[in-house]
Amino acid sequence: MIVSIVMGRFITLLLLGMISYFSIKSRLKSMVKPKPQTPAPEPPFDPGAADEMAQDPVCGTFVDPATSVSIIHQGKPIHFCGEPCREAFLKTQRGE
Ligand SMILES: [Zn+2]
Repeated sequence: MIVSIVMGRFITLLLLGMISYFSIKSRLKSMVKPKPQTPAPEPPFDPGAADEMAQDPVCGTFVDPATSVSIIHQGKPIHFCGEPCREAFLKTQRGE
């Protein structure tokens, strides 16, 4: 009789322990759950954008520095739409 009572208490404690263990486990699982709304990563800032244009000082046309006719004048790069503008600029610099 005593043995069965002790066994019953043991089983009850075991069950209670298991129930509390699984409830804590599931609670922890729900706490760890990742947030559904994650902020989208910002696009990397590119300071040297390809659409940066230079202005031809002779005719005022905006040109792409990568494809324009360019010279270094007084330490600064100057970009022209073509050879005639470059020649015209150099002429004005020579005082012609
Ligand atoms: Zn030009």
